[in-house]
Formats: sequence, structure tokens, C-alpha cells
Amino acid sequence: MESTNGHVEATGLEVEMNTEADPAKAQKRPAPGDEADTPSKPKAKRRKKSAAGPALPTNALMQLNELKPGLTWNLTAQDGPVHAPNFTMQVEVNGSVFRGQGKTKKLAKLTCAQTALDSFVQFRNTSPMKTVGGGGDFTSDDTNCKEFDAQNGSAAAEEADELKAPLVPAIETQGKNPVMVLNEMRPGITYDCVGETGESHSKSFTMSVTVGNETFTGSGRNKRLAKSRAAQAALQKMFNLEFSGSPGQEAVVAEDGSSLPQALADKVAQLVQAKFAELTENLASPYARRKVLAGIAMTTSEGGGDDVQIISVTTGTKCINGEYMSASGLSLNDCHAEILAKRCLRRYLYTQLRMHIQADASYDPDNSILEARQEGQGFRVKNHVRFHLYISTSPCGDARIFSPHEVEESGVESDKHPNRKARGQLRTKIESGEGTIPVKREMGGLQTWDGILQGERMLTMSCSDKVTRWNVLGLQGSLLSQFLEPVYLSSIILGSLYHRIHMSRAMFGRVPALPNLPATYLCHRPLLSGTLSPESRQPGKAPNFATVWLCCDEGLEVVTCMSGKTESGQCSRICKQRFFQEFNHVFGQLPAMNPQTEENKPEMYSEAKAMNSTYQIAKSELMKSFEKSGLGNWVNKPMEMDQFGLSTTASVDLSKQL
Ligand SMILES: [Zn+2]
Repeated sequence: MESTNGHVEATGLEVEMNTEADPAKAQKRPAPGDEADTPSKPKAKRRKKSAAGPALPTNALMQLNELKPGLTWNLTAQDGPVHAPNFTMQVEVNGSVFRGQGKTKKLAKLTCAQTALDSFVQFRNTSPMKTVGGGGDFTSDDTNCKEFDAQNGSAAAEEADELKAPLVPAIETQGKNPVMVLNEMRPGITYDCVGETGESHSKSFTMSVTVGNETFTGSGRNKRLAKSRAAQAALQKMFNLEFSGSPGQEAVVAEDGSSLPQALADKVAQLVQAKFAELTENLASPYARRKVLAGIAMTTSEGGGDDVQIISVTTGTKCINGEYMSASGLSLNDCHAEILAKRCLRRYLYTQLRMHIQADASYDPDNSILEARQEGQGFRVKNHVRFHLYISTSPCGDARIFSPHEVEESGVESDKHPNRKARGQLRTKIESGEGTIPVKREMGGLQTWDGILQGERMLTMSCSDKVTRWNVLGLQGSLLSQFLEPVYLSSIILGSLYHRIHMSRAMFGRVPALPNLPATYLCHRPLLSGTLSPESRQPGKAPNFATVWLCCDEGLEVVTCMSGKTESGQCSRICKQRFFQEFNHVFGQLPAMNPQTEENKPEMYSEAKAMNSTYQIAKSELMKSFEKSGLGNWVNKPMEMDQFGLSTTASVDLSKQL
């Protein structure tokens, strides 16, 4: 807060920004959820008025505050006549002093923050980014994002949003097509059609445009849309111009103020789609039929943009039929694309671990993305190695259930959804169906083997819930936790139905505080983003198969969802049995988190799962907190499903190298 000597504590900025607003605004507190979507007229007026100041980024102040907490701001001058004062604010960052002027203290501070930021970070400063945090009662009638925002101090973002002025004010983008705007800026520019995939009913075109030395692409169901998206990509990168328009489409910023560069999100999406096209003969193969496409990409450089490597590509939307449950871990229970993509990553992590076994054929620790922990036990993913999950649509369950497109169309974020009370609830996929239903309280999270065999529906947790779980427990699961620190997703990129509010609630916002989470585990918040070229709905019936590709294996594996096995009846590369074999291969060969000896070598998969008590504690913390906060019980598979030993018939090929 501001004190008499003109000092303003950076820590109180958000509050101060709110109360410093002019009296008219102070009286009319913004209604929750209306920050980005009030009908454009009054908003535009206010913006025009404040745009009298310098062109400002959306939230430089908040970002600076997040990057450098505890800065001291000084009001060093106030001149000009009383009716039109001019303020000068000053801040010291990294030993340098920065100043900014403005017609209000707020504007002066923002200018000052931007100058400071420009000096030490390369900023993506025109996109209206928002921080969305956890907690808050997102099921009450008149809240949603605002409660999240308030907890994380992004009232500042909201305020800054109001002060936003385009960086290229001379260009009027309102109502104009990106192609027209780009043409005004670079007359005579030409577009090429560089890709055409899919059958007649579900075509996708890719257009490219070159501006200067850079080529931008966009895709869509017709050439006009693809062209517009290519132009949009160019305008965004080259001229800092945004066309997003729809509230809810903005990327979600991390706590340190960083966000996923749109170009990286688009690149990951394009590479996953391109790999899938390559694997399916340019989508001509019958296995190209799909509803959901997912993939995990890895970046390894500090900037993490120019070196995207695709680790896995998967499709699928169905689960196993209860009749086919495997008592030896040979069937895949859940063939939803994103779940398969995660299983692929686990197999990839085993191949990486093997590089550290001296006696192993693939021994070469330098080639591995893993490094020994300084503590001397176990491994962790090297610095700068990041994993990005692409899903062609929002994950089933909480992230998708609230029809995000309807919210966008009405342009009102204050949620009047009749089912809003169910927001955040855990949901399950139903056997031989595609939707999800809320978990039933009376089940207490239990399913029985004999019950399912007798015809009870087998329930599998929704993808939204599973991804949320990865954001706390990591993607590695219990077996790999004996060798690895938790592996978290750096970002989640959605190819369609991306909605900031629903996604951030589903992915981490609904996770209650977990004060007893063991060290190394955390409530991780991946960056969330849509893509510039969202794909259109995949028409037609969902196929009964799923496809699996992993960078360390050859070819596309086709799995029959109903049986959870390959079309020829073999077990998949990524089934539990294979993972148990991988686990046994590395067991006792590497410095693990817990001692591993011949004596404590687990005979059963369930024993291997139970071995890492830290993982089990973290898991039970999460499950208990879901239950306590009224989101429901996590439904587990019958325990008999994990009571199997090593199979002698289905053996994993450990000779495969990267
Ligand atoms: Zn799903």
C-alpha cells in the first residue's frame, strides 16, 4: 500500500491497484467473470480513455512483480497542473534504476515496469494472459475465474487489461480479416497451399505465408480459413498483433509469469499431426480414422522452441469391455488417446533409465535425458528437458463437460450452467460408451472383479481427472517413482474446445491444498494453451481401435479397445505386464530411491506398486483431499487386476534402442 512518503510496496500492488481506481469504478465493482467479455462498447470507451497514456502491455506490472517480488516503488515526481498531473515512478531492479511517467500513478508504474522488464527479459507482451490459480468455491453461482484470479493477485491483470492498448495502434484490426491486415502491412504477399489431408468429409488444408525470412502456416477445413490462420500467426509473431477475440481463449500463465509461446504450442500441434499423417499414409490408411489425437513432445533447450521432438502419438476414445479384463496385466484398460500417450512416455522413461545400467547394451548415460540426483539415490529429468502434452480436444470429464463453446458464444463467463454445481467433480468413463458420469458416492471408490465379470459396468476415471492426478503425482506412476523424481507436464496444448477457465479448473484449480504432500511432489500447474488453427469436430462414428506410436519403437501399433490387445491378440508395448518386465530389468541395477535387493524384489505387480511408500503417501493425500472437498471418491480398478507376476509368454523386447 502507498504510504505518506510515496513508497509503495510491490507486495501490495494488486490491492493498491484496485483501490486506487477512480471513484466511479470503485463504486461499481466488476461482477465476477466479466473482465474480458463485457460487451465491447463500454469497454472500448474506457480503453480509449486510458489509452491516452503510453502503449502498455497487458500486465507488465504483475509479471515484473512475479519475477521480482518485493520491489520498492518510489513516486519521484509529480508535476503539471492539478487537473492534468504527470507522475514519475521509479523502481530499482537488478541494481539498475528504471523510471516511468504517466497521467496517473498507475500508468507511471506500468510504464516503469515495462521499461524494467524490457531490460532483462524478452517478453511476449501483447497477449491478454491471465493467471488462474487454485482453490475457491468454483461451484457457487456467481463465481468462477474471478475467485481463482483474486487468490493469485491477478486483479492486477484485470486492471492492466483495461489499460491495454495495442502495440501497433496505427493498425485498426477491429473487424478486419487477418489476411487483409497482413496485406496492408506487407502488400502483395502470397500464400501457398502446402498440405491437404483427410477424406472429402473431413478435409484439412494447410496454407503458408512467408514474411521476411520466416514462414508461417495455418490449417483449417477450407483454404480460406487456413490462409487466415497463417496470416494470424505471422501478425502475432512479427507485429505483436492478436486476433484471439474470444474470452477464454487466452493462454494461462505460470506462477513465475511465463506462458507457453503460441508459436511453440502451434509447432507441437503441427508436429504431432504431421507424425500421425506420416504413420497413416497421409491419412489414407483405415487407421487414420479417429476422434481424439494426442501426443507428447519434448523440448530440451533452455528456450525450448526450436528443438521439439515427438515422443508419442496416439489416438483412441474407448475403454475395455469388462469381460476382457486381464488377470496378467496383458490388456490396456483405457484406450483414450491422452492416456496412451502418457503410457508411451513411461516406456520412453524406461529406455532412458536403461542407459544408466552399465551392463546394458544401451549404456551411455550422456545420451540420457535423465541424470543422477545429487542426493545419490535415483534420477531426475535433466534441467531444460520439458514435456508437452497435445490433445486434439479438451480431455473428457470436467474440462469438457461444460460446453465451452456455448460460454464463448454467449460471451458471458458468469456461469449460468444448470449443472454448475457439479463443476470440478470427479467423473468416470462408462464401459462401452464415450461420455462421462459423476462418481457415485455409495461406491466408495471400489469396484470388484466378480461384480464386473457378472455384468456390472466397469468404470474408469475420466481423462480430466487422470491428467489432474499427473499434475500432482507426476506422469511416471508408482513403479518408475522408485527410480525417478516426479515427472511433470510443462504444458498442455489443446487442438480444440480450449477454454481457459474450464481447463485451469479441471487441471489444477480444483485440487485442494495438500499440506502433507511429501517433498519432491507438488501441485504442479502446467501452462495451458490452445492453438491458432483449432481443428474442426471429427465427424462420424468413433472407431473401435486405438493407435499407438512411440519414438523408440517402429510402426504404428493398433489396439482393439474392447479387448485392450492388438488386432492379432498380442499384448501392447505399453501394457502393465510389459512395464512390470521393464521394471524387473532395471530393479537392483541402479541407485534407486529405496534399497532394492534380491530379498525385497517384488514377485507381483501389486507389490511393486506398493514398494514406494512416498508415492503411496502422495497418492493417498490427493485422494483424501478430493473426497474431503466433496469432489468424490477416486474409483479404483478391482485389486485383483494388479495381482499378477511376470509372464513367461509375453516378454518385452529389451534390446530395442533409441
Ligand atoms: Zn478421455
